[in-house]
Amino acid sequence: MKIILDTNLCEAHGDCVLAAPDIFDLDDDDNVATMLIAEPGEEYRTQLEEAARMCPVAAIRIED
Ligand code: SF4
Repeated sequence: MKIILDTNLCEAHGDCVLAAPDIFDLDDDDNVATMLIAEPGEEYRTQLEEAARMCPVAAIRIED
């Protein structure tokens, strides 16, 4: 799966980290989300859809 994380939109709310902790983390300064796996497999789809839905600024897009 290809995931687009728009770091310009991200306000580091952290909802994506809660929804998909295997995929997202906040950077060391807690300023922006980062991706731990660049192209996650299908097994992460449910987590990723939840993360995209939860993000308050719609910074996460799933493109397959
Ligand atoms: S939920 Fe959205 S705003 Fe919050 S850290 Fe993740 S990408 Fe950034």
